[in-house]
Amino acid sequence: MMENIEITFKTLTPLWTGGAERDSNRVRETGLLGSLRWWYEGIVRGMEGYACDPVGDSRCEFDAKAKRPPEEQLCLACWLFGCTGWQRRFRLEVSGLEPQGLFFVASSNVYQAAGNWLWRVFGGEDLGGTRQGRGAAVTFTLSVQALWGEQATLRVIPLGGDGEGVLARVAFLLNTVARWGALGAKPQHGFGQIRITSGLASALVEEGQGLIAADAQSKSGKSPPEFFNLNSFFSHIYQMTKIEHYLDRLREIGTPLKGYRQHFIPCAFDIRYKSRSKDFRTGEGEDFGMRPWFRDKWGTRVAHRLFGRSDARRDEDRSAGRIHVSHLYRKDGSWHLKVWGHVPSNLKDNKGNPISVESVAEQVTAFVQTMFPGSKLIDKFDRKEVLGR
Ligand SMILES: [Zn+2]
Repeated sequence: MMENIEITFKTLTPLWTGGAERDSNRVRETGLLGSLRWWYEGIVRGMEGYACDPVGDSRCEFDAKAKRPPEEQLCLACWLFGCTGWQRRFRLEVSGLEPQGLFFVASSNVYQAAGNWLWRVFGGEDLGGTRQGRGAAVTFTLSVQALWGEQATLRVIPLGGDGEGVLARVAFLLNTVARWGALGAKPQHGFGQIRITSGLASALVEEGQGLIAADAQSKSGKSPPEFFNLNSFFSHIYQMTKIEHYLDRLREIGTPLKGYRQHFIPCAFDIRYKSRSKDFRTGEGEDFGMRPWFRDKWGTRVAHRLFGRSDARRDEDRSAGRIHVSHLYRKDGSWHLKVWGHVPSNLKDNKGNPISVESVAEQVTAFVQTMFPGSKLIDKFDRKEVLGR
């Protein structure tokens, strides 16, 4: 009888667990659970099972007085993660993560704009940050923190019946998130790349995959194309060859940690949004970044749907995008980048032609190889392997 699982992991990029909180100076399990639930919904829908919209009107509620079992009343995600009237089937205990000062880097060409945005998103003066100087001489400090751990542990403790079934499902979920997505909140800011070093037995992961597939068959459901769904998803891992020329033109936002360049380069914003800018006075140069790349290829509406609105006033609106980019991180001695995203099945270009997940993924590679010449796509999400279909 299996009582719990204990996974050891290493952070490859800082982890953000603050939910409504604007700081991530300690582990907040709710922040981790929120992101895990989102991924679980994507898996369940990808296997054609039913997962409700937990913030929508048709979200599940469990009525203990009704004479129907929970499996009938609840969608597959609410069964595992809980909802009104129904307790989550497990709890998490995390240890070995320490707070570290938050900072970013941006290309010197866009430094002021990127610095102003990130500084505001991560608290600005409200949370104790400072901004000094003007124009190109501006400097920022941030006082919020993210989490880091070389040997962190995550324990999953089942609650209620069928402990092994619950652990197996969570094992598959954690394996999927670590390989193809990100753990925790704010993945659009490069957080949450982890490497699981022990404790996740492949037999248990496989068992979990089989159980979720069976769940999906017994409780199937269709969901709107906007809903996160691994059936219309890509995840690419790139290995970079030479990034020195890129590193040379970066400036730091906030106070960098000594030696950080041995581990990660916090540049997701630079890649995803913009690393070069058109001069708005002279009109010279061009915007260069993943978002402008997609805007030039397929128009503003597609860029909005995939990357969120660029004219947004709040980070949540701007980043309500579907394509996420990790920071650069070092693994096995070389630099890597992960890019992943959900492409709504009804995505169309300006002329009304459908845009497939495959063509979006192709453009991502074209962009990455333009920004980082010589980078290689070394691994990618395989729908059949993960979803079994
Ligand atoms: Zn539900």
